[in-house]
Amino acid sequence: MLGYKKSIPVDKIDFVKRKTTLFLKNNKKYLLYSLVLIVVVSSIFISEKNSFVNQGSVVPTDLLRKAKLGEFPIVQPNMKYGFVLDTFQVLEGEVKPNETIGELLLDNGFTGGDVHSLAEKSKEVYDLVRNFRVGKSYMFLTRRGEEKPSWFVYEPNVYEYVVVDLENGMEVRKEERPVEVKEAVLHGQINSSLWVAIEETGASMEVAAKMEDALETSVDFSHVQVGDEFKLVYDEKYIEGKRVGVGNVHAAYYKQADSDKEHYVFWFDGGGEHVGFYDQEGRPMKGRFLKAPVKYTRISSRYNPRRFHPVLKRVRPHLGTDYAAPTGTPIYAVGNGVVVAKGYTKGNGNYIKIKHDKVYQTQYLHMSGFAKGIKKGSYVSQGQVIGYVGSTGLATGPHVCFRFWKNGKQINHLREYFPPSKPLPDELLPEFFKVRDVYMEKLKAVDSSVAMDETAP
Ligand SMILES: [Zn+2]
Repeated sequence: MLGYKKSIPVDKIDFVKRKTTLFLKNNKKYLLYSLVLIVVVSSIFISEKNSFVNQGSVVPTDLLRKAKLGEFPIVQPNMKYGFVLDTFQVLEGEVKPNETIGELLLDNGFTGGDVHSLAEKSKEVYDLVRNFRVGKSYMFLTRRGEEKPSWFVYEPNVYEYVVVDLENGMEVRKEERPVEVKEAVLHGQINSSLWVAIEETGASMEVAAKMEDALETSVDFSHVQVGDEFKLVYDEKYIEGKRVGVGNVHAAYYKQADSDKEHYVFWFDGGGEHVGFYDQEGRPMKGRFLKAPVKYTRISSRYNPRRFHPVLKRVRPHLGTDYAAPTGTPIYAVGNGVVVAKGYTKGNGNYIKIKHDKVYQTQYLHMSGFAKGIKKGSYVSQGQVIGYVGSTGLATGPHVCFRFWKNGKQINHLREYFPPSKPLPDELLPEFFKVRDVYMEKLKAVDSSVAMDETAP
């Protein structure tokens, strides 16, 4: 049927018109009221929404409810950094290698003068010039219909972000995201290495590192064994429901398979210098020597008075413990002390000797280099980096030969009994015992048979 156009018959149009007129006549009053209501409610909503955008705060839930009551069509806003993204054109990116914030601003329509004032303004709040790092996220927010961005947001880490008001004199503010802390319990048993065991529990390597730190003076992690058991009570940090990191360790437990000894440490903050990990009796762990001068390593050769020397090809006592680690791995002072020797010999290579007290001295051999500022007479504290693993002197590969001296004689530090340090002062002990008992309960609540099931292959 050529030329035919779909049309509404005249009488039908009339009918619709008539009906509308009728409706208007009958409901004029109500329609007017509801129109006014819609205008008022929506203008309240829009103005509040705008002011919220400027403040960068969160949409109050009562506002959403108000809108719903007025039957105002509402879509949950798409939010980030406190902005309603739907009201902007959004440009998101990651800092490229060698990219500076200056270039980024120039590329987005800003002048050298703008860059200068941003550099000045940001110094006081968060130095964006110095802390602009490759791979970090940023965002430009441009109001719809406009060319020049109004806001710039930079996210140096998950915990915080920096907002620049590009329209108002480059005002800079730093916002911290609320972190939620939840206590977590970890338990496992070693089938191959500590790292594998921790991975098997689903926890992060950060947890393994924290556990090593907590137990570094009581457990030698360089020779963990199959069957060793561990438990840990610690904090996990969450931002917007996502796990972002590990917080404090409250308590740790370790039992070596070849010994009946159970190691417990408890975190306690008694104020002043009385902060850190303590054993069950309230004796500080930090007063003792670290079990090893390097982390995440293995013993490649034990203390052995009758060892066949691999380089010299003859029996020669090995009066130290060798820890194999990649060249450049930091070497730590195992205790507080004074550097009494720093030098080089054909056998030792680069080495350092530390005097801890009138009884004990420790020596570290074959270093690739010394830490900055370390010289004879330097005071070093426990855990301080004194040098780096290498293979200088008589060595077949990169390792640190760690030697322990007691009253001028070399001993096997792994067999030595060190007298425990003095406990917390009497007035702090009751408080400590309360904390200890709470966490002891939590550690004990972890069923060790469950741990074995979980880590079984
Ligand atoms: Zn050695």
